[in-house]
Amino acid sequence: MQDNWSRYLRLIISGLAGTTLVGLYFGEPLYGLVVGLTIYLWLTLMQARRLFRWLAHPSATDEAPRSIGFWGDIFNNLHKLHQNHLRTQDRLRAQINRVQESTNAMRDGVIMTDARGTMEWWNGSAEYLLGFRRNTDRGQYIHNLIRTPAFKSYFDSRDYREPLEIHSPARPHIHLQIQISLFGDDDRLIVAKDVTRLYQLEQMRRDFVGNVSHEMRTPLTVISGYLETLVDHADELPPKWRRAIRTMAAQSSRMEALITDLILLSRIETGEQTVHDSLTDVDQLIQQICQDARALSGEKQHEFTVNVTDHRLLKGDESQLRSAFSNLVFNAVKYTPAGGHITVSWTTNREGAHLSVKDTGIGIDPVHIPRLTERFYRADPSRHKDTGGTGLGLAIVKHVLLNHDGNLEIRSRIGDGSEFICHFPRERLEERAPEATAGTE
Ligand code: ADP
Repeated sequence: MQDNWSRYLRLIISGLAGTTLVGLYFGEPLYGLVVGLTIYLWLTLMQARRLFRWLAHPSATDEAPRSIGFWGDIFNNLHKLHQNHLRTQDRLRAQINRVQESTNAMRDGVIMTDARGTMEWWNGSAEYLLGFRRNTDRGQYIHNLIRTPAFKSYFDSRDYREPLEIHSPARPHIHLQIQISLFGDDDRLIVAKDVTRLYQLEQMRRDFVGNVSHEMRTPLTVISGYLETLVDHADELPPKWRRAIRTMAAQSSRMEALITDLILLSRIETGEQTVHDSLTDVDQLIQQICQDARALSGEKQHEFTVNVTDHRLLKGDESQLRSAFSNLVFNAVKYTPAGGHITVSWTTNREGAHLSVKDTGIGIDPVHIPRLTERFYRADPSRHKDTGGTGLGLAIVKHVLLNHDGNLEIRSRIGDGSEFICHFPRERLEERAPEATAGTE
């Protein structure tokens, strides 16, 4: 290129020298130079015009315009750049088509939106699962097409660690699991998975547990009733039967407690026991639960402290909340040695409302904490026989809190006691009606 450039420069200089010499021959070398420069300028303008026209309408098949001198090199190099650009464009287009074809072949619905939820692209499965229409829905807000309030708050929350489950807006019999990922400039990639089969299996499992527990309750009540009568008349029985009858009575009452908890859990899970958004006086509820807990503590003589700093009401189902809170307080009694201290607090701050149950008991090894709310999970299986627990208490607490948009936090270390905190969102707090406040004063 450098060589060509010096050759072109030599050619221009010799051309100009030639015209100057011709001018000198006629006694006017300056005119000769001017004529030479004019011819050069005209030639340059002509080439610039060709370049301009070609750049305005380049075509993939066209050859570069033929030209002389360095203009020829410029045309050829531009032509090569243009061809490379077209090849890259083709390759990218082929790749995009391939990605689109593969996502179209996916059974999951895939949707791309911008940060505000404007629909940009979606695959064929999204059309089937969510009822989107290719021709009319581009540029629409996704919230206008999926109107479930839970979806809007999930989309806006930007916390996508857990997926969301909803019914399809277009086909209500389809149950969808929605997972959102952030990408690019705060854009969203939404994946909708059809989990109808799993949902039905889970529903069947819940129904089965609920029905079996229900069916077992009546025969068990009869057995327990007879056993209690036998225990009452134990003195009249032959001595070798007394122990057996007492053990049978104790085990049957354990089974009754288990069945009661199973039925309660299945009701809370299936939504049969819906959260009537009635108002619960947590202050009063805690006082009642602590009174029962003192009776349960009996000879163990635990010391109770109740600390209520907010007297507003909590929106939520009172019987569910009673089950959850009493499970926590009774656990504190069960897992705290005699004379221990149990503190129940109800406090609020900017994040929301918090019920804490703190004890000075045996504590839990932190490795068990993530699994404690699973059904029948026990941190120390050797101990549960003494406590007579069903192993369902914390599972009930977790589901009650889920029904109230809350969550459970567990802080504990072996030998250092435990603290179980139920967090509720601020929106669940409600001021007392003036007459109610006046009534309690
Ligand atoms: P359980 O009926 O066995 O008490 P839960 O679901 O209520 O069942 O509790 C699960 C497990 O969590 C218990 O078996 C126990 O190991 C542990 N646990 C619960 N509460 C406490 C507590 N306050 N202190 C120590 N361990 C606890």
